[in-house]
Order: sequence, then structure tokens, then C-alpha cells
Amino acid sequence: MERSEAVKLCMCRQCPTYIDCREEISFCMAVPSKSTCIKKEAGCLCPGCPVQEQEGFMHVYYCIRGNEQEQR
Ligand code: SF4
Ligand code: SF4
Repeated sequence: MERSEAVKLCMCRQCPTYIDCREEISFCMAVPSKSTCIKKEAGCLCPGCPVQEQEGFMHVYYCIRGNEQEQR
């Protein structure tokens, strides 16, 4: 799916790990990868996200560990 669609479905803003520093969400597809402000892992909602399911993504903590492609 398009990144713009993923941003609409993304659950990052409800996530306990999320910090808003005015970055585009949908970190699983982010280029450049990783957040510049989120550093501490406190739970990740990606496993329940429709983007994760529809794209067949397998990883978590994209905001900290890097996008799907980088974690493969
Ligand atoms: S898988 Fe995670 S980073 Fe990707 S859109 Fe869903 S909640 Fe956001
Ligand atoms: S990528 Fe995962 S850990 Fe990071 S903000 Fe999104 S749901 Fe939370």
C-alpha cells in the first residue's frame, strides 16, 4: 500500500513507546528509517496493526530498530 494510506491506519500514536516530534508515522515504511526522538522501548502496537497484517510485515519497534526492510 501507499505510505499515505499506511499513515492513516498506523497505530503508533496510541502506542506507549510513541513520542511526537512531528515526524511522519508508519515507521515500518519510513525512509530515512527510525525516529530521531523515540529511543526507549515501552511496548509496540505493530503486531495488531492492519498495515502490518496487510503488508505481511514480521517485525516490531520500527521507530527504534529500523523499517521492515532493514530488519530483515
Ligand atoms: S506496523 Fe507499526 S509502524 Fe507500521 S503502520 Fe502499523 S503501527 Fe505504524
Ligand atoms: S513502531 Fe511500534 S513501538 Fe514504535 S511507535 Fe509504532 S507501534 Fe510503537
